[in-house]
Amino acid sequence: MINWKRAFWLVVLLLLSAAAYVLVQVRALEVEQLTDDLYVLRGLGGNVAVLRTAAGAVVVDSMMLPWQGRRVREAARALTGMDTVLLINTHHHWDHTHGNPGFAPGTRVLSSARTRHYLQALDADFWAGEAARLLPNATLSGRQVVRIGEQTITLLHPGAGHTDGDLVVLFDDQRAIHMGDLLFNGHYPNIDLEAGGTVQRWPATLRRVLRLDFDTAIPGHGATTDRAGIVEFASFLEQLGELARHAARDHTSLRQFLRTQRLTLDENLEDVRMIIPVGLNRKFVLRRAWEETTGNFTRAAALDGAAEGE
Ligand SMILES: [Zn+2]
Repeated sequence: MINWKRAFWLVVLLLLSAAAYVLVQVRALEVEQLTDDLYVLRGLGGNVAVLRTAAGAVVVDSMMLPWQGRRVREAARALTGMDTVLLINTHHHWDHTHGNPGFAPGTRVLSSARTRHYLQALDADFWAGEAARLLPNATLSGRQVVRIGEQTITLLHPGAGHTDGDLVVLFDDQRAIHMGDLLFNGHYPNIDLEAGGTVQRWPATLRRVLRLDFDTAIPGHGATTDRAGIVEFASFLEQLGELARHAARDHTSLRQFLRTQRLTLDENLEDVRMIIPVGLNRKFVLRRAWEETTGNFTRAAALDGAAEGE
């Protein structure tokens, strides 16, 4: 016979342990020092870069919750001895931007014009009220060089890939770049077709990034890598894109395409996990690549209009 009382307490205990585990994972903030002045913070959400300059800290991306943003800001202050004078958002996805409200109102926040448009068009509920004070308040398209303290930072929208509004942030003096989600190192990427993402154009976008002068690459997700890591990721996307073009030409069904054995350059890629798997896996990238070349996806009407030059 089932002892209901015991079963009840067992369930309570299991739920409490699960909650404690999630809390520990969300709170975790790992620091990697790349140079004297440059750090990577890793936690739940996209990778964050922190640069020390004589005029204050520069932070790239803010993770996924406002209080994670507060922790990022505190960590940036602890690492650099200064408050954040510039926050940059590589793109609009919530795991890179929802920490923004953890920064001081009045902070200079930079993104591409496209990214700011997406934040307001797609995520209006979150950015209502107080949070709106930490929306990007300066935008750029193309390329912009920013000098802060003694440091030079080059911001570049190299073209479409993960979305059509992504920025990369080159820390010129550190010979390092934050790639945002244009690089998922060692992991299957998100391809946001609805927000202008494209497998077909992504490799050319990465080639434009490779023309810049740097050695170290910080991906949006995954471990820090180098130029070879970007080249490897571009080769995977080339192969995926080519297979999807053939599938469209040959009228291959999605079901058939998902079974292809010809995608081989993903052998070192893992599924993305944020405590649990979030659906970024082999099947996902094959489906998105097929949807792009066969036109089986819909761009939301709200996204038209603010096209950005490349
Ligand atoms: Zn993203």
